[in-house]
Amino acid sequence: MKNGHVDFMRPPAATAGRQPQGHFQDLDATELYCPKCGCAVPVNKSLLLVLPDGDRYEYQCKYCGTKVGDKTDCSGQFYRVLRG
Ligand SMILES: [Zn+2]
Repeated sequence: MKNGHVDFMRPPAATAGRQPQGHFQDLDATELYCPKCGCAVPVNKSLLLVLPDGDRYEYQCKYCGTKVGDKTDCSGQFYRVLRG
């Protein structure tokens, strides 16, 4: 005869591949002036390069795709590990 054995309901370890919808984009640059559209437009931020100094991002107009700005993020995510 078995003892009363409780089966645990295990939550899934990770809901991989699911991203929350409707979250805010980065707040540093949400709108920039687009010379083609002639007004401030919402922009797409895309990662161009990952440099030792920082990540290089480019901003593109959401409507026409014109590059309206770029920046280098020197947040120091790229650590150089020196071991002597
Ligand atoms: Zn535009």
